Amino acid sequence: MQKNNKLLVTVLLLIAVLLGVSMLQQKGFTMRDLLNDILAGFIVFGFFLLIVALIRKFAPTNPNMPNGSVQAQMEEVDKDFIIDAQKSDVTFDDVAGINEVKEELVEIVDFLQNPEKYKKFGIKMPKGVLLVGPPGVGKTLIAKAVAGEAGVPFFYQSGAGFVQMFVGIGAKRVKNLFAKAKQNAPAIIFIDEIDAIGKARGALRNDEREATLNQLLTEMDGFEKSEGVIVIAATNKVDLLDDALLRAGRFDRRVYVELPGLEDREEILKIYLKDKPFNGDVKEIAKMTVGFSGAALASLVNEASIYALNHNKNEITIDDFLAVKDKVLAGKKKILSYTEQEKKILSFYQAAKAVTANWLEVDFEKMSLVKDDFKEIDRELVSKSEIEAKIQVYLSGLVCIEDIFNEKYSNASSDIKKAKELATKMITEYGMGDKIVSNEMEVATLLEKSYKRAQILYVSQKEVILKVQQKLLEKEVVTKAEVKEIFSEIL
Ligand code: ADP
Repeated sequence: MQKNNKLLVTVLLLIAVLLGVSMLQQKGFTMRDLLNDILAGFIVFGFFLLIVALIRKFAPTNPNMPNGSVQAQMEEVDKDFIIDAQKSDVTFDDVAGINEVKEELVEIVDFLQNPEKYKKFGIKMPKGVLLVGPPGVGKTLIAKAVAGEAGVPFFYQSGAGFVQMFVGIGAKRVKNLFAKAKQNAPAIIFIDEIDAIGKARGALRNDEREATLNQLLTEMDGFEKSEGVIVIAATNKVDLLDDALLRAGRFDRRVYVELPGLEDREEILKIYLKDKPFNGDVKEIAKMTVGFSGAALASLVNEASIYALNHNKNEITIDDFLAVKDKVLAGKKKILSYTEQEKKILSFYQAAKAVTANWLEVDFEKMSLVKDDFKEIDRELVSKSEIEAKIQVYLSGLVCIEDIFNEKYSNASSDIKKAKELATKMITEYGMGDKIVSNEMEVATLLEKSYKRAQILYVSQKEVILKVQQKLLEKEVVTKAEVKEIFSEIL
């Protein structure tokens, strides 16, 4: 407050007090009564001040909270949040393997380079591409490669970076990010770990996250597909994402990025060994690194090189890799690496699925040690036998493992879940059970029946399964064509 203002307020207060006193005296109050009242007032006021002081002293304070007004605090938190376009010099050649992912994204590169071409034919490009896969498999790298190949600016943000302690900051950041990207269009916005903002809105509300998510949805709905901004987001947990994000016109294109298979690991290793004095067979390293992500392979090569150097060697050899493998594994707790026994279990499990799918004509392209690629049934018209066949495929791995190992393993859990979901849908939604209005018992009965059928088929296909299993164990992946070939050889 200005000095003059203070003086004015004091004078006004004094006048008010004097006026008050003279009015009270006119009404018969003595000075003594007045002093008593004032004293009582002071005591009450003092007591109030004491309580406020005590609350301030003992109430917990947030150590991260900067001082000052809310506005000032928000500005302070936002100070370090800088939205800058990066120039990407990564190309598709820098990304080893994951060819199918690259193929999916080539079209987007072309669109960014020649938007007019697409506009002329009225072709709409997706606004958002969601890359789904575990950490370290190259999701960020491939998004950068799209920007690099197209020669457009790259805006990187992590989902967690948006959501702050003040409601409204995340939304503001999203808004600014899109505004900057549009100014620089054509451009790519990359949002890493989008699940930090896009988690399904469950029972636990988080106002800041919700406000941020809503802003993101608004921005994505608001820009036209021809504006030349493409949002690429990455997540490991697509099943946790809010449905609203996956709806048409938002992240309607989904690309799965898997842990690299044997051949891809070899390619990745070659990239990182390119300029190093390595003497040995890259294939051998690829074979011993099942479950390593691209990032883990990069750090494995680095550790092996350091190890060789520290031991005064002129060359890096397989021995150096063996020496550091466990260390790299321990440092990256998240990455998977299977023991020989685990690989064996997985190979039987997946082989049974592949052979059953081949027999029941459930379409797939290839089956790896850790993954199948059955398409979700999303057509309008699906037959009962088609769904039943799929349920049977999902249960066939379990049947095989029980026969070979006389044991059950936890890897079956996701397939059991899928079988249950399909059975429930079939009975309750499609009315394909014995009665039109059904109950849970019917779902259980259907699953039991499918399991029995899977057991019977397993016995008749065991020979083929064993052959496919050997191939899977050796190559980590088997294609449908190869399964068919083995099948016809045995017949
Ligand atoms: P994600 O975004 O999936 O967590 P990143 O793209 O950040 O993974 O990958 C981390 C690092 O791992 C990359 O910078 C690169 O060095 C290496 N990497 C991962 N995948 C590949 C790959 N397919 N080819 C080459 N390098 C890779």
